[in-house]
Amino acid sequence: ATPTALMVGTGRGAKMGILIKNGEVLETVNDVQTVVFDKTGTITLGQPQVTDVIGDGKRVLQVAASLEESSEHPLAAAIMDTVHAQKLSFKTAENFQAIEGQGVSATLAGQQAFVGNEKLQHDFKIADDLKSQMASLQDQAKTVVLVGLNDEVIGLIAIQDAPKETSKEAISALKSRGLKTVMLTGDNQRVAQAIADQVGIDQVIAEVMPSDKADRVQALQANGKVAFVGDGINDAPALSIADVGIAMGSGTDIAIDSGGIVLVKNDLRDVDRALALSKKTFGRIK
Ligand code: ADP
Ligand code: MG
Repeated sequence: ATPTALMVGTGRGAKMGILIKNGEVLETVNDVQTVVFDKTGTITLGQPQVTDVIGDGKRVLQVAASLEESSEHPLAAAIMDTVHAQKLSFKTAENFQAIEGQGVSATLAGQQAFVGNEKLQHDFKIADDLKSQMASLQDQAKTVVLVGLNDEVIGLIAIQDAPKETSKEAISALKSRGLKTVMLTGDNQRVAQAIADQVGIDQVIAEVMPSDKADRVQALQANGKVAFVGDGINDAPALSIADVGIAMGSGTDIAIDSGGIVLVKNDLRDVDRALALSKKTFGRIK
């Protein structure tokens, strides 16, 4: 493509709210074979809401709040919203510790307390009925947070983050171009698979530590060029390593800086529009 065609292409993108950093990025989009998506905030709204509390509801929420008030995780915000809405009082835990990809732990009235997923505490006791309720909530695409005291799980909090209205259409457009779609997430396998099924994603890579996201993208590059679409601080390395990094405009500054393309309207259908633009600009010379 001529420099003029490149300027026209990137200019058209800008008008649609698709900011393309340079002509090389626009060209590479045309060669992408796999599109990898972060889940939370990219495929989903990124507005998790508590839907179910299993166990002694009040106590489960109070223990969770004692720890989650010190956490910056979106799941913690969802729990705190519910605790405030129900006007529950709670004590502040001591020795708060956030454990990447797992949850939080602390000391609460002399007891060891934890809020997080199964990885956080492998030797805890969990009643069989809680275990089966956990699986069924996860199959409903709900993230289940375990609340524990000492080595016993006292209850569960189910949190739902619905897919964006346009996610399904966006993914189906990419699939009809023959592209492979992949979801990459730190969330539980069952939950991730349930959301993938709702929006039509081909492959799920779940329970990935934030620090491993870039490695997973690199592994997928063995099968051709990869675009990664994400929004979070922990998506920045994956956005950089991908052949094309696509950041949501609503994302964190570091995600936006790491992307070669920024979707200003936060509309996942713009991934396909960027592809169409690239084809239009470079199609003829291929
Ligand atoms: P993602 O944002 O893709 O879900 P994270 O690495 O942030 O990935 O979190 C992975 C998992 O770790 C969450 O799904 C949850 O099970 C658990 N987790 C992390 N932080 C917390 C927290 N503050 N409270 C409860 N669970 C947490
Ligand atoms: Mg995200």
